[in-house]
Amino acid sequence: MEPKKVTSNKLQSIIDELKDGSEEAIGTYLYKGMRVQISKYRASGSERFARLYHNRRKQGLCVVCGKRVTSKNPRTGKLYRLCDEHRVKINKKA
Ligand SMILES: [Zn+2]
Repeated sequence: MEPKKVTSNKLQSIIDELKDGSEEAIGTYLYKGMRVQISKYRASGSERFARLYHNRRKQGLCVVCGKRVTSKNPRTGKLYRLCDEHRVKINKKA
């Protein structure tokens, strides 16, 4: 994943979250040309996957490719968890 560029304030708030033991702090950041990576030590693949899934879901990104999801499910009024492309692909398989 590409690191997210952060300001000093943002970096400070990430560190505060880290101190609180919040998993919200997890991510890869770019600060003054330095990569700051906060990740769980020895996290299993499935833990990492679950976190990626939740982060993408929370940010309204396709859980498969990370593209921004723009369509909403008319039944729930919520954004789909997949982009248009993957929604079509996965629905076809089902
Ligand atoms: Zn997708």
